[in-house]
Amino acid sequence: MKQIAVIGSGTMGNGIAHVFAQFNYQVSLVDINQAALDKALQTISKNLDRQVAKGTLTEEHKNATLLNINTYTSIKEGVQHADLIIEAATENVDLKLKIFKDLDEHAPANAILASNTSSISITQIAAVTNRGDKVIGMHFMNPVPVMKLVEVIRGYATSDETTATIMSLSQSLEKVPVEVNDYPGFVANRILMPMINEAIYTLYEGVAGVYEIDTVMKLGMAHPMGPLQLADFIGLDVCLAILKVLHDGFGNPKYAPCPLLVNMVAAGKKGAKTGEGFYKYTAGSKDLVVSDKFKKS
Ligand code: NAD
Repeated sequence: MKQIAVIGSGTMGNGIAHVFAQFNYQVSLVDINQAALDKALQTISKNLDRQVAKGTLTEEHKNATLLNINTYTSIKEGVQHADLIIEAATENVDLKLKIFKDLDEHAPANAILASNTSSISITQIAAVTNRGDKVIGMHFMNPVPVMKLVEVIRGYATSDETTATIMSLSQSLEKVPVEVNDYPGFVANRILMPMINEAIYTLYEGVAGVYEIDTVMKLGMAHPMGPLQLADFIGLDVCLAILKVLHDGFGNPKYAPCPLLVNMVAAGKKGAKTGEGFYKYTAGSKDLVVSDKFKKS
């Protein structure tokens, strides 16, 4: 495998392109939005600079990495020579089904089609293609260049051969792949999202404040980030979408999203990316400041 196409150049797509290019794969990065592609290349360059400054990458390796990436605004052109395509577009089921129909039509017949989805069924995605045995989940964690885990999700029809290829490919990126089956939320989000939802309920019911909840989990459980800060980092809209998948998929009320989370997303307070969630974010500042809404009087 040498030629990789990445569909979607947002938070995850640019990280996935970065890592493959750094390990000397040829990467075609595809987005419908030219501005997103330009921004992705800037982000990758900035993140590579950080690696150079830390001494984990040479300047030559940085330049070679950037030369390994080409950008496209058309799926047809971007995937025509790909051995593996990783879709990292917006988390929306109808969009993903449409993209996978296009990929099946335009990618080489033997190419593997992977999705970086956080929660959408790989089996459902595979069913719109004529190559269900070659469709798989490849769930990277954010930030991709830093986080070691790849959750490898086997759909109902995914073959042993496809799974083995993706497991060893992930290792070639110095990641640690873990194989899981395709049920709502897979493993990562099935366990993480109920914890985040419970933290939001704890705030909503007035048991404790934002700072107190996050401090209990950071200092008491040795989590590097409290659950409310992590929810802001992931995006509250993304958390809500995943909880809905768990709730619909299992039909169990224990996954019902907290009304406070629903309200915050409706109000546009989606976390770090919108400047406010449980905390307030100011460009250039790393201070954790609780949002005015949750400040104690
Ligand atoms: P994002 O909003 O940052 O980026 C999505 C990109 O997809 C945008 O640039 C958008 O222009 C592009 N896009 C939309 N429609 C497209 C199309 N038809 N063709 C090509 N590009 C298209 O989203 P993100 O946070 O990078 O999430 C991407 C995927 O990764 C989602 O499935 C999400 O669930 C998953 N994921 C996200 C995280 C996270 O922490 N953000 C972690 C793991 C997995």
